[in-house]
Amino acid sequence: MHPDIFHKDFTPTPFWWEAYRPTAGELVNVPRTARVAIVGGGYAGLSAALELTKHGVDAVVLEANELGFGASTRNGGAVSGGVNVGKSFTGKTIEVDGGRVDRILSDAADAFALIDRLVEEEKIDCFWEKPGRFVGAWARKHYAAQSRRVATLNAAAQSGAYMVPRDRQREEVASDYYFGGMVVERSGKLHPALYYKGLLDACRRRGVAICAKAAVTRIGRDGNKWRVETARGVLSAGDVVVATNGYTGSLTPALRCRVVPIASHIIATEELPPDLAGSLIPRAKTLSDTKRVLCYYRMSPDGRRMVFGGRARFTQVDATVSAPILQRYMIDRFPQLRGVKVTHAWTGNVAFTLDALPHMGHRDGLHYCLGCNGSGVAMMTYLGWQTARKIARVANYACSFDTEEFPDHPLYSGNPWFLPVVGGYYRLRDHLDRLLG
Ligand SMILES: Cc1cc2nc3c(=O)[nH]c(=O)nc-3n(C[C@H](O)[C@H](O)[C@H](O)COP(=O)(O)OP(=O)(O)OC[C@H]3O[C@@H](n4cnc5c(N)ncnc54)[C@H](O)[C@@H]3O)c2cc1C
Repeated sequence: MHPDIFHKDFTPTPFWWEAYRPTAGELVNVPRTARVAIVGGGYAGLSAALELTKHGVDAVVLEANELGFGASTRNGGAVSGGVNVGKSFTGKTIEVDGGRVDRILSDAADAFALIDRLVEEEKIDCFWEKPGRFVGAWARKHYAAQSRRVATLNAAAQSGAYMVPRDRQREEVASDYYFGGMVVERSGKLHPALYYKGLLDACRRRGVAICAKAAVTRIGRDGNKWRVETARGVLSAGDVVVATNGYTGSLTPALRCRVVPIASHIIATEELPPDLAGSLIPRAKTLSDTKRVLCYYRMSPDGRRMVFGGRARFTQVDATVSAPILQRYMIDRFPQLRGVKVTHAWTGNVAFTLDALPHMGHRDGLHYCLGCNGSGVAMMTYLGWQTARKIARVANYACSFDTEEFPDHPLYSGNPWFLPVVGGYYRLRDHLDRLLG
């Protein structure tokens, strides 16, 4: 423990949980039958349940832990509409063949619009704002690569993207850390746990059974139905949706070996003096950077604290390990925050896929929506929604993420033992990028 960085009220839980803390609530019994059983009660699971119910299809959500245990109440709350799609955990944006890239970006733009619609229709009070995002270029060649992407983003996702050269970047961020960067106007931010709670309330208003502490332990065929065994009883369902993202486990081995769970870590600072707080990100955007071991940050909804995240480690580690690393990364960008104390530090899992794309589809008879690749507030909400529309047979077009291909690798069966090595290697590559380019 580095006592000098921790505030006296430090807690190793998400800052967002001050507003909504995951709870099992009054335990809802697991019903004996449902038309659709959804495994996992994060954004994807809840948004699938909500959309199914709107079409008269009865759905049950089965969550292993408290409601909101997963990444959906732990994330940074930055909402993107395409700029992150196809970005692998190497930080590199993968190349997708010409025609498909436009469809992917168009779906990502629709995911952003879906958040807008849900927040309005369900009256979700979650500090939803659309100030845009600034993606700082860590090296000169990254700035050049960003410049080449601007036109595609604007044409296919109406991103409102443009470049900001280094001599003007202080209009976006009170730091000289980057070689300029890209602004993406069509980006937003929200309070992730309040957005989660809003989806939960919307489901409850429509009578969806949401069962906490109901880990699904086995799924098997029972005639033309599914027999879904949970920690709190057995359910018979017509369809099953797996929405477990970075927490996908041995229940679904064929899916587990297609997603790599990677930890992401965040700290929140104590309340800053108003002048300092107001000066750090003058236009209140969310920020991220082009490093392989990237950081992402924003001010808290009240504008008083820095909420700063990144891959302090690629694996789950204690907050006493991740917080000093993140604090150092924060001071690299904002030397003016030296001496500021950390009040919260936490971690959660994201799921990367081997082709860096989110996926929905059907495998061994089960529906799935998985693979946020680090950016899933909009995307996982959207994939849950798309999966529901497919099951309810109301989808009027095929989502570009709904494909047969969901790559695996002969050397990977779901245990990401290689992550610490990968983390070290990418830190080195980041260092070389800055040095050489
Ligand atoms: C620290 C951090 C920062 C992030 N920052 C951002 C950001 O700024 N912007 C952004 O867009 N995205 C961000 N993300 C990603 C985003 O949070 C996720 O993509 C999104 O929340 C995933 O939602 P989900 O519903 O798919 O999964 P989750 O919310 O992770 O839910 C999956 C649930 O499945 C449950 N489960 C697993 N196995 C079983 C089982 N057998 N039975 C029953 N339940 C089971 C788990 O308990 C878990 O609650 C971040 C993630 C983290 C961890």
